[in-house]
Amino acid sequence: MVNFWSSAFILPAKCYDTIESMCSAFLWSGSPTQTHKAKVSWEDLSLPKDEGGLGVRKFKDTARTFALKLIWRLFTKPASLWGCGYCGEINETREHLFFACPYSYTIWESLARPLVGRNINPDWEWTVNRLRTMGGKSLDSILARMLFQTTVYYIWKERNSRRHRQGGIQTDQLRRFIDKAVRNRICSLRYAHGHKLEGLLRRWFEVTL
Ligand SMILES: [Zn+2]
Repeated sequence: MVNFWSSAFILPAKCYDTIESMCSAFLWSGSPTQTHKAKVSWEDLSLPKDEGGLGVRKFKDTARTFALKLIWRLFTKPASLWGCGYCGEINETREHLFFACPYSYTIWESLARPLVGRNINPDWEWTVNRLRTMGGKSLDSILARMLFQTTVYYIWKERNSRRHRQGGIQTDQLRRFIDKAVRNRICSLRYAHGHKLEGLLRRWFEVTL
């Protein structure tokens, strides 16, 4: 099995471009091939802030690379032969981990409810569809996507730690890690005063109160 978390392997640039466009298509349209449905392209998000983007760096950015690889893998290989290390469920599928598993859902629900709405539920399809249809450029929509990527990443990371008998942190602690990661990501964007997305951090503090 390929070591998914190894950042050592180097793919040709064209592969990165392909994966990036498929991840982007998936994130915004729910399908890796329906690029035409994208409301905001990954390129838009990757633009420098003064050109209207979110100031996020592109695919080769380490954290983002991990998050996107993971999301890509989840999309292409939904089933797993392992049981769930969080709750003991025998059939650890993508759907179970995100977010039918009580451990995952406790974290996701507590952070995402203010952003995605009161009808939040553990269903993967519903969640992805909700993220897709929220409207690309509102603060809540941007935060919901950031939170989704970050939550998926941390839940997957902790799941792997447990698999190697190194994990075991509680939901409230993982929630704090996720909160901090999102906050750091927003702060790293450093919006100029008066930028229309300046409210991201303020809105995030409201969400995590
Ligand atoms: Zn579980």
